[in-house]
Amino acid sequence: MGKGTKGGLQLTFEDLAAPQTLDELKNSITDCQKCNLAANRTNVVFGEGNPFALLMFIGEGPGADEDRLGRPFVGAAGQLLDRILAACGITREEVYIANIVKCRPPGNRVPLREEAEACLPFLRQQIELIRPQVIVLLGSTALQYLIGSEAKITRMRGQWFGPLYGARVMATYHPAALLRDPGKKRPVWEDFQQVRDAYFALKNG
Ligand code: URA
Repeated sequence: MGKGTKGGLQLTFEDLAAPQTLDELKNSITDCQKCNLAANRTNVVFGEGNPFALLMFIGEGPGADEDRLGRPFVGAAGQLLDRILAACGITREEVYIANIVKCRPPGNRVPLREEAEACLPFLRQQIELIRPQVIVLLGSTALQYLIGSEAKITRMRGQWFGPLYGARVMATYHPAALLRDPGKKRPVWEDFQQVRDAYFALKNG
């Protein structure tokens, strides 16, 4: 069955009204007012990367650096993510990086449920447009909103789930958690080795 069809080939109104490209989607939310995070943001941090990425990373939400620059994962946690990717032989440009919420929660607190729920439809559309084959959930917020509110990162990291939107999914600790607790280095590295192997099998296969 074709994408966007329900029980047949007929297009629905939602199919026709939904943004058809990432740029259209991005432009449609530059002035989003769907939750209270809009009041304090400098920029909507839409996400960035290869629009055809096989591999997508989903974090929690922008911090101060991301809010200022309008780009995901550019602060300390982002630099650590870049180093982990480099150790896997993967560049930032070939993957796609987004977050559960696209505006910075004050003081970097965990997004409230109503904020995450207001923003999730945009992330879903983003995933549907990119159609990654592997999704990595960075930390417990991403795990809980995409897999289930009871999901525990300590128990569920390092295992494959899915398919979700056609992708295999793995959760691992958030790079910010790694910065706080170096004891998480080994499990994260083990998780990323699995991700790397799955990604290169797809890329080269
Ligand atoms: N932490 C996140 O979860 N996302 C970012 O973009 C930056 C830090």
